[in-house]
Amino acid sequence: MNEQGKILVIGGGISGITTALEASEVGRDVVLVERSPTLGGRVSRFHQYFPKLCPPTCGLEINYKRLRANPHVQVYTNSKVLDVSGAAGSFKVKIRKDPTFVNEKCVGCDHCTEVCPSERSNDFNAGMDKTKAIFLPNKMAYPPRYVIDRPACEPGCSKCVDACKYGAVDLEMKTQEIELEVASVVVATGWKPYNASKLTNMGFSTVPNVINNIMMERIASVSGPTKGQILRPSDQKPVESIVFVQCAGSRDENHLPYCSSICCLGSLKHAKYVLEQNPEAKVHIFYIDIRTPGKYEDFVRKVQAEPNVNMIKGKVAKIVAGKDGGVVVEAEDIIRQRKVHLDVDMVVLATGMEPSLKGQTQIAGINLDEDGFVPAELQQKGIFSTGVAKRPVDVNSSIQDSTGTALKAIQTALGVS
Ligand SMILES: Cc1cc2nc3c(=O)[nH]c(=O)nc-3n(C[C@H](O)[C@H](O)[C@H](O)COP(=O)(O)OP(=O)(O)OC[C@H]3O[C@@H](n4cnc5c(N)ncnc54)[C@H](O)[C@@H]3O)c2cc1C
Repeated sequence: MNEQGKILVIGGGISGITTALEASEVGRDVVLVERSPTLGGRVSRFHQYFPKLCPPTCGLEINYKRLRANPHVQVYTNSKVLDVSGAAGSFKVKIRKDPTFVNEKCVGCDHCTEVCPSERSNDFNAGMDKTKAIFLPNKMAYPPRYVIDRPACEPGCSKCVDACKYGAVDLEMKTQEIELEVASVVVATGWKPYNASKLTNMGFSTVPNVINNIMMERIASVSGPTKGQILRPSDQKPVESIVFVQCAGSRDENHLPYCSSICCLGSLKHAKYVLEQNPEAKVHIFYIDIRTPGKYEDFVRKVQAEPNVNMIKGKVAKIVAGKDGGVVVEAEDIIRQRKVHLDVDMVVLATGMEPSLKGQTQIAGINLDEDGFVPAELQQKGIFSTGVAKRPVDVNSSIQDSTGTALKAIQTALGVS
């Protein structure tokens, strides 16, 4: 790799991967740093994604193929950028790579999980099931390599070491520190779901069968906790009636003051998931107004036209436990000017996208705005942000933004801006 004119990309979701590929495929050397053990970000957790409603494999696999064939991208997963100093053209960067305890000899044979006696909560499935302490982060993981959650291991256990005939498990693996110089930096750190427990009237984590939209994606997915069957968590009953609560935390000064821009489309997509499995299911969507940026208006019309979809303009006041695992939703119906009480099988809170960096004040020396987004271009030459790290957007907009951002990063690397 050529040290001069390198580009550092922080965050390996669709935005970071796109930036890395676009810059490297015209010959720039790129270092892509992802904090989790696999690339893919939030997109890898979807059952399907709009506009085409295809599974994440259809977008990510082609990108992974491009990455595998590309000698110009150095990927560091399970890694963090500790420090960025200097100026455009010659930033000094420190990276910490934490041990995964499984090396590149791993072939994914799964013999290690067969002998592993310990379990851990599966964050990929939003904590709704468990994996063994040694696990593959997900079926599409890149790199396709197992990882050990050491704190979850039984003390002194080394059964996975003995079971691995390829010598891939290395319990002595150490943290590495890497120092390098780059010409430009792109922040693509994306988002996390807003913590719905803060919405005290919405029953998340107190009322059984009130979930958030990320849990809904995982429940609908064949690699999710119910193998794609839409069952309510408390008793695995197939869902026959469901409420979606829009703007759960978004557009609210006390929570997220901005519109997350995709939650309306997310719930309409989820309504489709439910109706595909059970066309008789009753779907109620409470909204303030339905916001569908750009070309997505058709999608709204299509879902709205479904006979079992009931769109209600009004705010949800309270969610409480009903009988036999049911959930009771109390809300207003502004248009019909009346109060509504619905008793349903499950409630999905359409929680918004909060920047991953919320809680920090800076990244790479760049000040975050009051919501945690990274308006980098205005602050320092040679540092850029893209995708949801910059503002709440869909995948298509993230990809377009990241392609443009790659160009800006290249211009800095070539000293032409
Ligand atoms: C419920 C829901 C459904 C959605 N459905 C769709 C859909 O169907 N279609 C669509 O177009 N959009 C959809 N979206 C929006 C979509 O998720 C985003 O557009 C997309 O994830 C943006 O990608 P990104 O790479 O910017 O961020 P992310 O996907 O969040 O990726 C960011 C990456 O950066 C990593 N990272 C974070 N911090 C650090 C750090 N400090 N150091 C290193 N790495 C870090 C993260 O681990 C992650 O891998 C949906 C959103 C929600 C909430």
